[in-house]
Amino acid sequence: MLETLTDDDPLAKPAQFSRGVGPNRAKLLEKLGIETVGDLIVHLPRDVLDLTDVRAVHELVEKETQSILGTVVDRDSRITSTGKTMTAVLFQADTGFIRGVWFNQPYMLAKFQDGQRVVLSGKPKFRDRRWEFSHPHVQWLGDDDDERGGGILPKYGLTEGLRQHELRRIIRNAVEDAVEFVTDTWPDAIRDRLKVPSLAEALRLLHMPRTMDEYQLGRRRVLLSEILEFQIGMALRQRYWRKSHISRPIEVSAKVDARIRRLFPFQLTAGQSETIREVAADLARNSAMHRLLQADVGAGKTAIAVYGMLAAIAAGGQAVLLAPTEVLARQHWQTIDDLLAESRVERRLLVGDQLAFERREILEGLASGRVQLAVGTQALIQDQVRFANLQFAVIDEQHKFGVRQRASFSTTEGFSPHVLVMTATPIPRSLCLTQFGDLSLSTIKELPPGRAKVITARIRGPGARRKMWNHIRQQLAAGRQVYIVCPRVGETPDDDDVPINESDDTATAESVYATLSKGELRDYRVGLVHGRLPRELKQQAMDDFRDGETQVLVSTTVIEVGVDVANASIMVIQQAERFGLSQLHQLRGRIGRGRHVGYCFALSEAETPEAAKRLNAFESISDGFQLAEVDLEIRGAGDVLGVRQSGNLPFQHADPARDKDLFEEAHAEAQQLVDRGDIDEPDYAMLKVGVLERFGALMELPHTG
Ligand code: ADP
Ligand code: MG
Repeated sequence: MLETLTDDDPLAKPAQFSRGVGPNRAKLLEKLGIETVGDLIVHLPRDVLDLTDVRAVHELVEKETQSILGTVVDRDSRITSTGKTMTAVLFQADTGFIRGVWFNQPYMLAKFQDGQRVVLSGKPKFRDRRWEFSHPHVQWLGDDDDERGGGILPKYGLTEGLRQHELRRIIRNAVEDAVEFVTDTWPDAIRDRLKVPSLAEALRLLHMPRTMDEYQLGRRRVLLSEILEFQIGMALRQRYWRKSHISRPIEVSAKVDARIRRLFPFQLTAGQSETIREVAADLARNSAMHRLLQADVGAGKTAIAVYGMLAAIAAGGQAVLLAPTEVLARQHWQTIDDLLAESRVERRLLVGDQLAFERREILEGLASGRVQLAVGTQALIQDQVRFANLQFAVIDEQHKFGVRQRASFSTTEGFSPHVLVMTATPIPRSLCLTQFGDLSLSTIKELPPGRAKVITARIRGPGARRKMWNHIRQQLAAGRQVYIVCPRVGETPDDDDVPINESDDTATAESVYATLSKGELRDYRVGLVHGRLPRELKQQAMDDFRDGETQVLVSTTVIEVGVDVANASIMVIQQAERFGLSQLHQLRGRIGRGRHVGYCFALSEAETPEAAKRLNAFESISDGFQLAEVDLEIRGAGDVLGVRQSGNLPFQHADPARDKDLFEEAHAEAQQLVDRGDIDEPDYAMLKVGVLERFGALMELPHTG
């Protein structure tokens, strides 16, 4: 963040020589990664303690937000007459006692220890001769928080042997002595547009705020520094892609457009039409499209893929669709082959287990240009696959965050194909901007009309389970079908990266199958499918279910991607707490496809607050985009991205889960800076150099941007 110009730059001075440090403390600071005065200045507070409006008990009034400082003297938790848990904590304040109460948050009890000092903020009420704060905001004071001075106190990350008030003083000294030497790479124009102070001023506000507004403003600028530079890098990457991926422009004539639309047995939704407009506009350019399409399950992404492919074929090119699994590739093939039943488009399915001569014939067809359209798994982009004239490539349901491993296609005569990446799982917007900030984004929000509603309920306890099975038997008697989904043993939420250990989930699915087919569902025809079955048996089990031979299908998450059975309107998810929110939502997308009301039952006996939050959200929210945002809030960016991908978040301070709006603002600003060419102006040179130094290698940017 700081540009150090020369060795006699005050910011480059060893921290040891900063006021109030010395050799011993310098060693402690080193443990925090602090070596220079500049490092001290960018050791940002993790939080602040707001003591600006701490009142005495006799100063409290009703209906106004106020703070009070107290020491825990008593605490207890009980069940009220209405069946809620009530946690009450008694605090001794300066001139009397006050009470804090929390309903249905039993875990609050353990957060308080006798003798602990806290600041409570909220709107108090006078009840039972005492001031009471209901669900107040709590700030816990450390042993060495010196609250006597009041004001706003920064709280820093510490290391053993270094106390909060000591570090506060050390950093304050450094800021007072050297912050003025912090240079700002941002030109005034950006600061004006984003309404932020200079970097030096922002750092001063952050460390020594007089009001919460000042603190927020300082924080905003410092976080934006990081995020904006990252987003500029992404925008430069996008520009670089456009420059280095020349493609043949494809004009979609009205005639071609009408011919493609006629293939669909339905009217496109507004969202589909809009996306098609965006795709068509991209195709008309001579730089390759690089677009991400996000849509909820069942929103109709396939139609977009088909449109793009046929447009390219009509222009004399070839098109491919790549799916992550063979099951999905076959399903797409089925759909596309059916749609094109009356057409002369030469099309092939290319999957792993084809016979050698068959495969050779397809590859030759692709190389000669005879085969116009191919559907397959990643096998399609292996080295030996050559295309005569590939102009459009669709990558479906690629792993959500595999940005850097994005498929690369061999070019034909220096021309690159247009690329459309489709994700089935909506990604929270702020994560999308960081992971896919260099792609153009299309979103389809609505589902096609006429979809049945899906009712979701969390089922807990024997009574609820009994009622559920009764309901399910009624539905079975009425002709409906049921999925029963079992988790992998040891599954962590959304852990898509863990290779599926087939034997793990087999055990669960088999035991659930055994129990149910002898118990609750003994009068019905129950099938079983899991990953360890040979392919023919897997297919057989799926076919039997589709044809109604079996009424119930017990399965592992094999069905997450794949089957489409309109009559299956009920889903039971076993041990639902083991699934991540997006996976639960994916599963639910399998039902409610026909005209019958769908029922999704999430079975879980889990007690943890995290599981409760997740399952509550699943119960009450049906929109995949909204769920994705909640998921991010609950789990944080690192967990949503997964361990391996969180390395893709090169932020020291910014957090896509917390700082959503800043990502949005920075993205818009970065796009404009690059689109208008401002970033190439002399005024912006220092900023651009900073971006390239920091993100150039990561984003594989050329040195000139
Ligand atoms: P996804 O976005 O999950 O890939 P699909 O493309 O598989 O969705 O479409 C889901 C289902 O909705 C398919 O059966 C498809 O035929 C149907 N469908 C797609 N678009 C429309 C539409 N505009 N009107 C009605 N049905 C549609
Ligand atoms: Mg799909």
